[in-house]
Amino acid sequence: MSVTLTPVWDLDTIFPGGSDSKEYREHVQQIREDITLLSQQVTHINLSSINLDEWAKLFINLEKLQKEFREASAFVSCLSAQDVKDEQANLLVAERSDLLAEMEGLITLIDQKVAGVPEKEWEELISTPELKELDFVLREKRDKAQKQLSKEVEMLKNDLSVDGYHAWNQMYGTIVGKMNVELEEDGEIKAYSVGQAANKANHPDRKNRKYVFDQMSKAWKKDADLISQTLNHLAGFRLQTYKHYGWDNVLKEPLEKNRMKQETLDAMWGAIERNKHHFVKYLDRKAELLELDKLSVYDIGAPIGKKEEKKSYSDGAAFIVNHFAKFSPKMADFAQMAFEKNWIEAEDRPGKRPGGFCTSFPNSEQTRIFMTYSGTSSNIATLAHELGHAYHQHVMNDVNGLNQRYAMNVAETASTFAEMIVADASVQSAATKEEKRSQLEVKIQRSIAFFMNIHARFLFETRFYEERKKGMVSVDRLNQLMVEAQKEAYCDRLDEYDPNFWASKMHFHITGVPFYNFPYTFGYLFSLGIYKHAQEKGGSFEDDYIVLLRDTGRMSVEELAQKHLHVDLTKDGFWEEAISLCVEDVETFLQL
Ligand SMILES: [Zn+2]
Repeated sequence: MSVTLTPVWDLDTIFPGGSDSKEYREHVQQIREDITLLSQQVTHINLSSINLDEWAKLFINLEKLQKEFREASAFVSCLSAQDVKDEQANLLVAERSDLLAEMEGLITLIDQKVAGVPEKEWEELISTPELKELDFVLREKRDKAQKQLSKEVEMLKNDLSVDGYHAWNQMYGTIVGKMNVELEEDGEIKAYSVGQAANKANHPDRKNRKYVFDQMSKAWKKDADLISQTLNHLAGFRLQTYKHYGWDNVLKEPLEKNRMKQETLDAMWGAIERNKHHFVKYLDRKAELLELDKLSVYDIGAPIGKKEEKKSYSDGAAFIVNHFAKFSPKMADFAQMAFEKNWIEAEDRPGKRPGGFCTSFPNSEQTRIFMTYSGTSSNIATLAHELGHAYHQHVMNDVNGLNQRYAMNVAETASTFAEMIVADASVQSAATKEEKRSQLEVKIQRSIAFFMNIHARFLFETRFYEERKKGMVSVDRLNQLMVEAQKEAYCDRLDEYDPNFWASKMHFHITGVPFYNFPYTFGYLFSLGIYKHAQEKGGSFEDDYIVLLRDTGRMSVEELAQKHLHVDLTKDGFWEEAISLCVEDVETFLQL
């Protein structure tokens, strides 16, 4: 790929005209009509005499509607990310929330019908040729629906959650959006947003790092009272719901969403805990390199060695495509197409939202990637990561839409896998020993994040929810719980911890997905397991990988691993082996 690529995406091939698109308006109108039509269809279904054709038609229409909705939703995400000042796009975001509530209302209607089908007829229904392929998702749907409360209560809960639940997350966003971090630069005090300040957190000079950390802590402390309210209330809503469902375990919902067993989660954390001493050795060595007795939480990401060289967007793209090709020519072809067809928005310009994502347009069978590229190796890693997500969707394009919805833990598998290929290549192609060491460190940092940082989040969140059952949890107690969790997760190896992390980490405040933490660690280790499998299998691996990805939306993670990797995720072996790859990195690092 020697051409110069433009890092700006093309949205017009989806709906022309940006946030004023006439075609988009028509598409939304179509969704509204389809919701009405389907609602009528569901209401007319007679549970005392089951009509197989009627049910088959219902699920065909549902698939079509969900694809239409995802297409619209993805378009709005892209519009609002590319220009935060696009007011029309912000209106479309609000309209999407309303549409989503309508969709959820319809789903509740369908679920109630599904729950009401007598057992014998249900078995007949899902073994018809039209519905056979949906076996897993339909059983899961019925299972969930049968545990629901009455239709009226579920509808009321849906309606109340807009202002009584999700609103707390929006409120959190508003509080954080107004926050300022004051930093003195060149003798002048400047006010930065928390996002901007966070970008300055890894300064090579320790005094500077500590200063930024302290100033950020000051800002979080100032609004801790407000944020503890939003967190306590959103958790309270969640726990009330669980109480009415009769659920005692706060992990029940997140585990079900991720289609995984408690035993699997326990086996994963168990293996991580047994191997933590290796990563402690890395922390100690890093402290030595920085000439410190012990690292503090703000030293973990500090750079060691010289500044890295930057790569242009086209060179970064070529690097990714070349290294993908060594593993999977199909994945490389896909990435090349995504670059050439302008599926990626990577331009470094003001007015863009921070962060990165990949979103799918299931009707057009396209994806779009959003990020800001400035040429660092971490940018290249992000780009590879998002291309992994995009490839996952690409291989699923012809899978039934209802079988395309995979959970977060497996969603992070394809992305981490792609990221790993590039990270490994960066280590191997390093020209000097010093460069090799710093590339290796990038890889180890990822292990530290997944095994220690995310472990702390998981420990904190589990304990916080247990305490919240008994009443409001104060700011002091939240700070205390957070430091305890960090001490445990980092094996008591740090000098200073971050008590305000419960406030600053946005993931604790997401209402759509509970426990936005352990699925990341799962995805990381699961993809490492696949990576190891791939290295052993060589050439024939590419097609096996595709088949595995295509199954991610239609079985539990335990079944997925058993079927494609012949391993039992509830046992230690798989996890130990995956972690051993990360331990190798640490050992090489220590030698260098
Ligand atoms: Zn991801």
